[in-house]
Amino acid sequence: CGIVGYVGSQSALDVVLAGLKRLEYRGYDSAGVAVLADGGLAAAKKAGKLGNLEKELVERPMPTGTTGIGHTRWATHGGPTDTNAHPHLDNAGRVAVVHNGIIENFAELRAELTERGHELASETDTEVVAHLLAEEFSGCADLAEAMRLVCRRLEGAFTLVAVHADDPDTVVGARRNSPLVVGVGEGESFLASDVAAFIAHTRSAIELGQDQVVELRRDGVTVTDFDGRPADVRSYHVDWDAEA
Ligand code: GLU
Repeated sequence: CGIVGYVGSQSALDVVLAGLKRLEYRGYDSAGVAVLADGGLAAAKKAGKLGNLEKELVERPMPTGTTGIGHTRWATHGGPTDTNAHPHLDNAGRVAVVHNGIIENFAELRAELTERGHELASETDTEVVAHLLAEEFSGCADLAEAMRLVCRRLEGAFTLVAVHADDPDTVVGARRNSPLVVGVGEGESFLASDVAAFIAHTRSAIELGQDQVVELRRDGVTVTDFDGRPADVRSYHVDWDAEA
């Protein structure tokens, strides 16, 4: 339901949790985060309010990293459990993905992945994306390209945001029939389902267009369509009151 992504020099966990709090008004039934640190990927997710996740993070602290993603879920496929909460990971635990919306053709994709030996842990439509991204990344070693290849196979409505431990300074996002906004800061970049998540940090925003993929780095962003063609990007100034 709510999505936040960050790459910069601050603690990604702090930025992402604060962003998710700003999106709480949307309602949700579970929450989770993933952070890239020390060459690996750390993830935590919990059913219920953000407070449950925060409690989990106190009991089992994560290593500090400067690239991360977070999600508050409004369950559509699979009950509101810890396992079904996002992020979803591939079997090697190197890719993490969060998703808003519904992937209509997930059952076929799931059957195909199972056939190829993937083990899916959740009942969600989302989890197939983590496994598909891992496969595509192993072929091209480029997370944005992997995302484009995966998106071309998906039907339905989705905002997707992903990280890969083998590309620790990048966050990738994509959207179709579901919103995604990019925040451009000084030496840091943000992604969210709503600008409210990052206006405490930057007022420079880019609305991602239909069927576009964004690659987020500290020093800027690159936007393409699902075929890799560069997209026209116009940033705008968010001038509404941060406390609104
Ligand atoms: N369809 C996904 C799920 O049920 C995403 C739901 C959402 O938009 O939060 O996990």
